[in-house]
Amino acid sequence: MSAKAQPKRYRWSCASPDHPGILAPSRLRRIDLRRYCIPCSEASGVLVERTSAALEKKRETKTDQRKAKAKRQTQTRKKRRDTSTRQRSRRQDARATAITEAVGDLDAQLKRIWPIVRDVSPRDDLPVAPPAMKVTLRTRESFVSGYAWYHQHRIHIGVPRSADHSEGCGTLAHELAHLAAADRELGHHAAFWIVLVDIVCQAYGTVLTPEEVLSEPTKYLRQQVVEQAIRDARASAGV
Ligand SMILES: [Zn+2]
Ligand SMILES: [Zn+2]
Repeated sequence: MSAKAQPKRYRWSCASPDHPGILAPSRLRRIDLRRYCIPCSEASGVLVERTSAALEKKRETKTDQRKAKAKRQTQTRKKRRDTSTRQRSRRQDARATAITEAVGDLDAQLKRIWPIVRDVSPRDDLPVAPPAMKVTLRTRESFVSGYAWYHQHRIHIGVPRSADHSEGCGTLAHELAHLAAADRELGHHAAFWIVLVDIVCQAYGTVLTPEEVLSEPTKYLRQQVVEQAIRDARASAGV
């Protein structure tokens, strides 16, 4: 028969060196007499508690360990956060690089051709500053997309990796033509294409007439004509 394991016992004592301490478990009930030094309590008229130095030391160590662990966890979390921020900015850089590789520097294009757009526009209230432009990488679709917000003076261009410079320039010119065409509904009517042809001829030296563009039946095919003209102009200019 093995004896039931006894709980570890600690020495509990009062502050007086004259009163012997006692051995007791680490946890004692509030009303457990072993908690209190009777002679001290009788002398002072209130209950005087015994304490266990070993137990307090152990508790302190535990608190220190808990604090150290919390600190380690905080550091780990911060490290993870830094890593994911780094990864995110690396992904952003990679996307920006992919966009530039596909269509070149659209910001530079915007800056360069905006004065031309203002010049050919029938609007006399176009701001001197170019519109705000957001360029994003398209991961699925295979053509350059765009959108213009007439009232907000803002455009968006979506670029797939497969795009070329002429598609980028053509889409940029297309969206700017929406701002320039004095049509709040952003329609693809004849006046819009005339403005667009005007912009690309001046900006990219294309040889193109509105009639050539308008002879195509759909918006998609008309835009193709514009972009092909830019491609031809770039080729003959040797860029
Ligand atoms: Zn005592
Ligand atoms: Zn459009």
